[in-house]
Amino acid sequence: MKVGILGAGQLARMIALAGYPLGVEFIVLDPSAEACSTVLCEHLLGDYNDPVLLAELAERADVVTYEFENVPADVAEFLENHTTVHPAPKALAVAQDRLVEKRFLQELGIPTPAYVAIDSLDDLEQAMLTVGWPAILKSRTQGYDGKGQSILKSPADLMPAWELLQGVPAIVEGFVSFNREISIIAVRNIAGEMVFYPVSENLHRGGILRVSECRASDPMQQQAEAYVTKLAEALAYVGVLALELFEVDGQLLANEFAPRVHNSGHWTIEGAETSQFENHVRAILNLPLGATAPVGFAAMVNFIGGLPSTEQLLSIPDAHVHLYGKEPRKGRKVAHVTVRSKTAEQMIASVSALVRLSDQVDCS
Ligand code: AMP
Repeated sequence: MKVGILGAGQLARMIALAGYPLGVEFIVLDPSAEACSTVLCEHLLGDYNDPVLLAELAERADVVTYEFENVPADVAEFLENHTTVHPAPKALAVAQDRLVEKRFLQELGIPTPAYVAIDSLDDLEQAMLTVGWPAILKSRTQGYDGKGQSILKSPADLMPAWELLQGVPAIVEGFVSFNREISIIAVRNIAGEMVFYPVSENLHRGGILRVSECRASDPMQQQAEAYVTKLAEALAYVGVLALELFEVDGQLLANEFAPRVHNSGHWTIEGAETSQFENHVRAILNLPLGATAPVGFAAMVNFIGGLPSTEQLLSIPDAHVHLYGKEPRKGRKVAHVTVRSKTAEQMIASVSALVRLSDQVDCS
């Protein structure tokens, strides 16, 4: 079987690393010659909307999937007309526009932070009367890792935040003083069966994920599973689906979802019976789904903008190193390290050591 992937970054690389032992081959389409999965996948080099390359991908792949949600809608539709695409393009269309996404979640009865659509500075000034201070202004599309976002603390912030967006459509959201951020990663197969990983507890800085910890038996597990199930069913979803949530006094508010494998699930490579990457491959190829039970105490630390030596990383107890083969650059995710320990104490000690190392090399 051959899987086609739109995008050839570290997510595609980890999908391929999980799929090869199952005898699956991979072909990736990406405009960058240096994209980090191309060392282990056949590479179609060119734009995502190049009709010749898309036709070749559709022709050669049994199923096409993607590693990011900003695939142009007409590209996903073209592929769907020529081959099998999982998850279906509808999931992309909803996830790539924050306004459409929030409306979709609310229509399903999944609560979200308060939000208002913004098309002008005037809209923004009006919206602040209902949303209240502080708030966050976010571009509706093309935003990830906190890009295209500004925090609004007082009326003086409105004009600069609006100008930064250069007129692109936006939403303003009430700033949620959450107790913590969690995410739930679910897998749904073609028959509609679902499995769930234990929720991840996530720590962000500057809008970028830094640490995710596997939370076996979390009190929010059931609620998170109920929400992600509603979402997956409404999208007739096939593959791995991640839902990011804020916990506020025992209630969950949905921030956003990702129709793909997710950074907060990287700990599943060593920390679960079957990784999110393998389960994504299994789901889209209609193979039996693997167990999602946690193994030991697991957490993951991202390395952003810089890397210590591999020796330094490997000298930390229970560390499993995943280098992405990318040139370090400001704000760029270049590696993650999973810790899987026999005790919570050891896991916490190793994660603290890794966070210290990560902070030393981080130039973001
Ligand atoms: P996003 O790109 O929407 O996932 O935002 C990145 C990060 O910014 C989130 O993981 C939160 O840490 C923070 N954030 C985003 N939206 C809000 C909000 N409405 N209230 C508080 N923090 C937020």
